[in-house]
Amino acid sequence: MRLSRYFLPLSKETPADATIASHQYMLRAGMMKQNSAGIYSWLPLGHKVLKKIEQIVREEQNRAGAIEMLMPTIQSADLWKETGRYDAYGPEMLRIVDRHEREMLYGPTNEDMITDIFRTFTRSYKELPKILYHIQWKFRDERRPRFGVMRGREFLMKDAYSFDLTEEDARASYNKMFIAYLNTFNRMGLKAVPMRADTGPIGGDLSHEFIILAETGESEVFCHADLVNMAAPGAVDFESDLQALVDQRTALYAATDEMHNPEEFEQIPDDKRLTARGIEVGHIFYFGEKYSQPMKAKVMGPDGQEIFIKMGSYGIGVSRLVGGIIEASHDENGIIWPKAVAPFGAGIINLKVGDEDTDTACENIYHALALAGIDPLYDDRSDRGGVKFSRMDLIGLPYQIIVGPRGLKEGGVEVKTRSTGERENLSIDEAINFVTEQFKA
Ligand code: ATP
Ligand code: MG
Repeated sequence: MRLSRYFLPLSKETPADATIASHQYMLRAGMMKQNSAGIYSWLPLGHKVLKKIEQIVREEQNRAGAIEMLMPTIQSADLWKETGRYDAYGPEMLRIVDRHEREMLYGPTNEDMITDIFRTFTRSYKELPKILYHIQWKFRDERRPRFGVMRGREFLMKDAYSFDLTEEDARASYNKMFIAYLNTFNRMGLKAVPMRADTGPIGGDLSHEFIILAETGESEVFCHADLVNMAAPGAVDFESDLQALVDQRTALYAATDEMHNPEEFEQIPDDKRLTARGIEVGHIFYFGEKYSQPMKAKVMGPDGQEIFIKMGSYGIGVSRLVGGIIEASHDENGIIWPKAVAPFGAGIINLKVGDEDTDTACENIYHALALAGIDPLYDDRSDRGGVKFSRMDLIGLPYQIIVGPRGLKEGGVEVKTRSTGERENLSIDEAINFVTEQFKA
């Protein structure tokens, strides 16, 4: 993409309510625009990142055996009345009346609807287990939308739902999602820690929030320091026993403020006791028959008896992750995108637009990188060098190739790695190879 043809509306000022880095940088870097409180348009740069995150989430769900589908944003109130949630949900639910006076709502989540779909089509235990998911916009009329896309009212969520015959099978589904989540966040360059979470009236230990550590996070967390640095499981055989992998992590103390047990925490060695703040980017939950009972979602078991389906739900805040990744990866000059989610792989800075040699060199690099699949952003605008440098730092592309007449006379260009600030003088071919190599996993 050539910057002169792109839509990248940068801004210098940010509103006073943008108090944290990710909110400020997303506005300054022209990634999004607020349309009303907690409701945003995703401008081209932000949209690219959102789609990359969505795709990683999708790939890891698929790898774990979950099946993608798509449910609507607008739902009928009827299903929610069946489960009793229409009244229970409260003011966070956006309620709508259509022209026929029918009660509708903008879905804040989809347990009721997916249970209805499942009960309509599934009769026998032989069709279990199943995990279905979709990636769809949700609406929650949050009391205090804030921190930009991190606590929006309209936001993009991946929500998966598991259906099993027995509690034991349901635990296996839960474990699959647990592992898939670790791999998902790891691919985005994040260290997400599974924390015990409140299971509400259902009880049990099967609920975890996945939290990335950040000073500006809304959750207070307490955990064993080793948990933060544990490697992601990587390629695992999802048919094999996942319990051991999950146990490894759940054995180490980790809880948010609501589940924190100070006595248990004290038992951790002093130097391993970590108290921090974090951002909830995912939440997995086993809730058994909570919806299948009121909605009469049953299957015929092997013995011919009808059994209520055991269910769980598994959310990831796709749009929240855009802000979360920036919170975890930025400096005073702007965003530092992890390679896997960067909107463009590299930026090319032309320091003298109109100079024949410089233009030619930039064009050559631009085409070579595009051909190599790096998706470069070429700053071909005629601004001063200083403007270009700070703009490129702000939008945070992993690599910058800086091309000017002086360097070219000495036979080369400068390559800057955004995350380390390291600069290297390389020939044009070396620069292309260097950047291309960085993207080979
Ligand atoms: P929170 O405690 O932050 O309000 P929640 O417990 O209500 O979140 P879930 O119902 O578990 O959220 O939703 C699944 C995921 O969706 C959360 O882990 C979070 O990443 C994301 N999410 C929830 N609410 C919002 C929101 N208002 N804006 C952006 N993302 C959200
Ligand atoms: Mg939650």
